[in-house]
Amino acid sequence: MNIALIAHDDKKDDLVRFVTAYLDIFKDHTLFATGTTGKRIMEATQLSVQRFQSGPLGGDQEIGALIAKKEMDMVIFFRDPLTAQPHEPDVTALVRLCDVYSIPLATNMGTAEVLIRGMKYGLMEWLEGNPGENNES
Ligand code: PGA
Repeated sequence: MNIALIAHDDKKDDLVRFVTAYLDIFKDHTLFATGTTGKRIMEATQLSVQRFQSGPLGGDQEIGALIAKKEMDMVIFFRDPLTAQPHEPDVTALVRLCDVYSIPLATNMGTAEVLIRGMKYGLMEWLEGNPGENNES
């Protein structure tokens, strides 16, 4: 599976800890991330991560483009709900595209735990038949 990892600054430590805790799962998937998040994960885990621009510089939109091309299977995005983000419109657009294409999206640790444990038990197999958005026109 192609998995996108993004964390706002105050949530980066949490995401690094999360990926480290589930290293045995993440190592079997193709990982993508916004710039700084990806750098932090690679430094902490030695995992290979394809990095995009930093979020405020367009990284969220790059990940959104992969969703629109049906090349992303899951997004784990630890948002900071207590800090205003200069690129809030990009964040909203990314969340919207996940909804358009029915891509599993975790915006906090609680949901991310459920998604990752679901992967462990094969509960994501339905994604192989995910029709994504309904309007093919
Ligand atoms: P970053 O971007 O990983 O480059 O910090 C994430 C974000 O703030 O959207």
